[in-house]
Amino acid sequence: MQKHILVIEDNKTIAMYEEQTLRSAGYDVLVAHNFDEAVELITAHKKEIVLSIVDINLPDDKEKALEYLLKHNIPSIAMTGSFHKKLRDKIVDKNVIDYIVLEDDQQLELLQATVHRIISNEHRKVLIVDDSKPSRFALRTLLQSQNFTIFEAADAIEALKILKEHNDINIALIDYEMPKMNGAELTRILRKSFSRSELSILAISVHTAPIVTVEFLKAGANDFITKPYVKEEVIARIGVHIDMLNQHKQLQDEILHRKCIEDELKFSQKQAESASLAKSNFLANMSHEVRTPMNAIIGFVDIMYKNEQSPQQQEKLKIIKDSGASLLEIIDDILDFSKIEHGKIEIDRTLFKTKEPFVQVSRLFLERAKEKNVVIKLHVDSHISEHAYGDVTRVKQVLSNLLSNAIKFTHSNTTVTINVTPITGTNSLLCQVKDEGPGIPKEKQSKIFHMFEQEDCSTTRKFGGSGLGLTISRSLVELMRGKLYLESEEGKGANFLFEIELFKDIEHHLSKQALAAEKNELLPANDALLAKVLLAEDNKANQLLMKLLLNELGLDVTVCNDGLEAIEACKEDDFALILMDENMPNLNGIEATAQIRELKCAEHTPIIAVTANALKGDRQRFLDAGMDDYIAKPIDAVILEKKLRKYLA
Ligand code: ADP
Repeated sequence: MQKHILVIEDNKTIAMYEEQTLRSAGYDVLVAHNFDEAVELITAHKKEIVLSIVDINLPDDKEKALEYLLKHNIPSIAMTGSFHKKLRDKIVDKNVIDYIVLEDDQQLELLQATVHRIISNEHRKVLIVDDSKPSRFALRTLLQSQNFTIFEAADAIEALKILKEHNDINIALIDYEMPKMNGAELTRILRKSFSRSELSILAISVHTAPIVTVEFLKAGANDFITKPYVKEEVIARIGVHIDMLNQHKQLQDEILHRKCIEDELKFSQKQAESASLAKSNFLANMSHEVRTPMNAIIGFVDIMYKNEQSPQQQEKLKIIKDSGASLLEIIDDILDFSKIEHGKIEIDRTLFKTKEPFVQVSRLFLERAKEKNVVIKLHVDSHISEHAYGDVTRVKQVLSNLLSNAIKFTHSNTTVTINVTPITGTNSLLCQVKDEGPGIPKEKQSKIFHMFEQEDCSTTRKFGGSGLGLTISRSLVELMRGKLYLESEEGKGANFLFEIELFKDIEHHLSKQALAAEKNELLPANDALLAKVLLAEDNKANQLLMKLLLNELGLDVTVCNDGLEAIEACKEDDFALILMDENMPNLNGIEATAQIRELKCAEHTPIIAVTANALKGDRQRFLDAGMDDYIAKPIDAVILEKKLRKYLA
């Protein structure tokens, strides 16, 4: 239904201004210039007229219009050109909403605000609680003239019932003196048991004694009005409380709005996290998928290389071998990177000879350096502890990254120096990798430690690389409780330094290892391993490769294609050792191991996981699954033999 505001005004200019003011505020306006026109419009649109603005000095009949509107329950705002007290009393007496003295343009703004207040009052529900019918009637008439929606209760019980049914009532006018329960008691119940904190309670009483006022206010009333009241004052006080309620609502809306934003943020954060997790799972899966066939490629090429007599063929096979190795390096980088991103890298500490990783890595790069006429010089301080305790693989990985970069970026015919020294007064070691290349300008030094960042885009084209090496190296060093940093000036070479704690409690670890070694003698090398082993592996190429390697060591191999077959095989035969691929159809290696451990006959059989998923940190996962050890694909024949000798001893 369309809602109209009726303007009754004989002065056409004023009528036009009023009409424009209201229309610009979005209201539909009907205009009557005299009483008869007003009657006509009210007859035609009675139900649609929600408010009227009436000139109380109409020439044809000064008060007829006002009374007519009142009779038809149309709330009205009186407009007058001049103000005097008698006029005001009359207007107030007739329950007119408000009166506005039209002196200047500002009053039109006031008109707009008043209209807005009255229209929105329609949604305000007010409860009158008073045992006296005439008192209720007087208040109701007054409040209805302000367009409020009114509820009435003759006592506290009725009031509680109404408030329970209508939880959107937010103003209550409560009389003090009532049978059964007085107004202050009702107020207390409303505040305590009903938790109606958002309800504005205006106490009304004939008592002027402060004791009643205090009792009411202490019970939780917001305001106090003494009877007999001045109508305008009641309306004004209600107005104050409505303003407070509006502010309260605005505040609540704001809190709700903020909470929504917070929830949205949390949701997008969760989405981003799960997307990132999906990405890293994808990377892990992909690297697994690539590693599996690479195992067969590298393994067979290795066997062919060893057996090949012709140097030309050997050279080609070497190229395949090296390319395979670089491909694996990239896959390892990607896997490492995704693990670092999710904090999944574990540091696997063992005892090792301090020199060992530095000598091995330097040796590994000799050939590459020679191609560029670069000399690698390694100095290990003679005062350094002979043994170290830490993750030797990760130390080698960091050094390899730095050395590979140094050789890659340095000029031909220069020297790359590796200096290893103890840091006095600490349990740490300092390693410097220094080259005589172009160096790195100061402003780019922090950038190169960020993911995928290279000094500039041309680097990739010229030198290749993923831009992950330094990011991974720095994270690994930090995981090993150390730091990695750079000293360089443009044109003066680069000096990458890392410090790692490797000598903490070294004596304790040494004595522990000596004890373990006594118990765990390896089978002497070169002796054939005459035992029966089970190989569970679904990939045909890898089955063939493993069988070849195992037969070469003298082992008798039974091959099965998945975890279920492995369990059956264990029930039928006794094996000295089981090599178990992790990812297999029907039943994977982890689940198969759990079931094999239940079998009496294979309870203690050593099980070695063979996996394309593994990096050093995964060790615990296999041990937790009941396995004894693991070998990473692509299989290194030397490591395989070492592990077999250990477990078959
Ligand atoms: P990449 O796999 O591209 O080598 P890194 O994270 O190892 O990734 O190195 C990032 C970048 O840092 C390189 O692309 C190169 O621009 C710069 N950089 C690293 N080491 C050196 C060095 N020794 N001399 C000059 N620039 C280097």
